[in-house]
Amino acid sequence: MAEQATLVIIKPDGLKKSLTGNILTRLSETRLKIVAAKVVRVSRELAEKHYAHLAKKPFFEELVRYITGDLHGDNRVLALVYWGENAIGKIHDLAGATNPEQAVPTTIRGQYGRILTSGVFENVIHTSSEPEEAEREIKLWFEPHDIVLDLYPVREVLTPERKSQVWA
Ligand code: UDP
Ligand code: MG
Repeated sequence: MAEQATLVIIKPDGLKKSLTGNILTRLSETRLKIVAAKVVRVSRELAEKHYAHLAKKPFFEELVRYITGDLHGDNRVLALVYWGENAIGKIHDLAGATNPEQAVPTTIRGQYGRILTSGVFENVIHTSSEPEEAEREIKLWFEPHDIVLDLYPVREVLTPERKSQVWA
């Protein structure tokens, strides 16, 4: 199995419940490398792109409210890229099943997840399920310069018309 990159998102419930350290400790059991990390304020647009494949599901609106922090009154997630041998499988197994009730109790979702009365699976963490998904998600959440490895091909662009902020 080759070395791979995978996206992990500690969802708003993970941050709100002060589980960030616990989740990172569990993830460190894999001995994979963190090659990117940032706290992100999730816009509705980013949420809809991230979960585009679920747009027709009855729980989609609640899911967008969940990942944007609307359900928890805290609009932050921690996004990370882990890299190494079989990274996708290792992290996916450690995260556990989507439904926290069905997740093995010793997995991250088994330990910390719950089902809301609304039916939403509040499962504290997102992980990529396969290489194509990982690539799509990493490119959605991170710019090339955010990542300390050259994961995917890049191209150079000159954007003098782009307005950006620098420290005053
Ligand atoms: N989800 C839910 N109810 C469902 C299926 C999914 O609330 O019946 C939520 C859950 O938070 C899950 C997310 O939608 O993590 C994305 O769903 P997906 O099927 O992609 O599961 P995952 O890849 O996160 O295990
Ligand atoms: Mg998924």
